[in-house]
Amino acid sequence: MAVDTIWVLAEVADGVPITTSLELISQARALAGTVEAVAWGDATASVAATLGEYGVTKIHDVGDLAGSLPGVPVAAAIAAAVAAGGPDAILFPATYDGRDIAARLSVRLDRPVLTNVVGLTTGDAGLVTQHAIFGGSQVLTARFTGAGPGIYVVRAKSFAAEPSGGAPATVVAAPAPDTGATNGAKIIARHVEERTGPKLDEADVVVSGGRGLGEKDQYVLIEELASLLRGAAGASRAIVDAGWVPYSHQVGQTGKTVKPTVYVACGISGATQHLVGMKNSKNIVAINKDQDAPIFSVADLGVVGDVHKVLPKLIEAIKARG
Ligand SMILES: Cc1cc2nc3c(=O)[nH]c(=O)nc-3n(C[C@H](O)[C@H](O)[C@H](O)COP(=O)(O)OP(=O)(O)OC[C@H]3O[C@@H](n4cnc5c(N)ncnc54)[C@H](O)[C@@H]3O)c2cc1C
Repeated sequence: MAVDTIWVLAEVADGVPITTSLELISQARALAGTVEAVAWGDATASVAATLGEYGVTKIHDVGDLAGSLPGVPVAAAIAAAVAAGGPDAILFPATYDGRDIAARLSVRLDRPVLTNVVGLTTGDAGLVTQHAIFGGSQVLTARFTGAGPGIYVVRAKSFAAEPSGGAPATVVAAPAPDTGATNGAKIIARHVEERTGPKLDEADVVVSGGRGLGEKDQYVLIEELASLLRGAAGASRAIVDAGWVPYSHQVGQTGKTVKPTVYVACGISGATQHLVGMKNSKNIVAINKDQDAPIFSVADLGVVGDVHKVLPKLIEAIKARG
């Protein structure tokens, strides 16, 4: 049974909607007759064409947040808009802001949240979700039974982002009501992490390193190979926790979900919490000196060998090809 209306949180970064929001909008089109978005910022109108192209007919625009973090004002604005006639479901990307807003909205509406959603379909009684559990080895299904709207937090790469060629969305104001002292915190500075090459969760090639690299300095092998392949460098949690690389590099259950054409795992054992973040990659190459390492169970190409020998040779061979 398809539902009538779904709202999707459309996060905007660097002037464009983030890919995960576009993935959710694309899937919402298949599930509901009407797809609308909630956005904020000083330039919502500039993304109306892109959101429309993916199937959004209306944007509920919270407007400029005047230096606030989005959590409080956007959740309050959505709650107010819901009171005036809400959707059947609201989908949030599992980003920092998406999770923050969903949690605050849950409290405001006194409705539970289904988190870590990796699949969303329609069943006899409305929307049905899939959730990967036990590190992705099992999938459970769930659905809301009470009154709506259902709040869903969905993992990146659960669906494909596909435009449908719609007209630009109309923009309606959905300002936040006065939230008093709860909205007192203001952003006073922003630090953008330096990055060369594609974003980890959007790269076509990801080369990740794990504890098998032995020491922090060896991570340059990962960065060099990633750069030669015009890809992004990722990491297991073990080396993030060890302080070798920042958390933004982490792939897995508590890091990023990636789905590149090629994923190269170097010195990574293949713990279920890592696999859940990369096992849907199209082609997986694993380099590990232990032939029984679990990573080989998902690898399309396995190299049993020492990363300190294999990676320099691989880098040399790619350079030789020019
Ligand atoms: C709640 C929870 C959430 C978690 N979330 C994540 C997550 O998001 N992402 C994540 O990655 N992990 C996560 N983990 C941690 C996870 O369980 C593993 O501990 C972690 O993935 C292991 O990292 P690793 O493979 O780099 O290290 P190890 O498990 O220590 O594996 C190192 C591998 O390197 C190989 N090796 C050693 N030397 C060499 C060499 N010279 N050449 C080639 N191979 C070599 C070894 O054979 C071994 O297979 C989570 C854990 C928990 C409990």
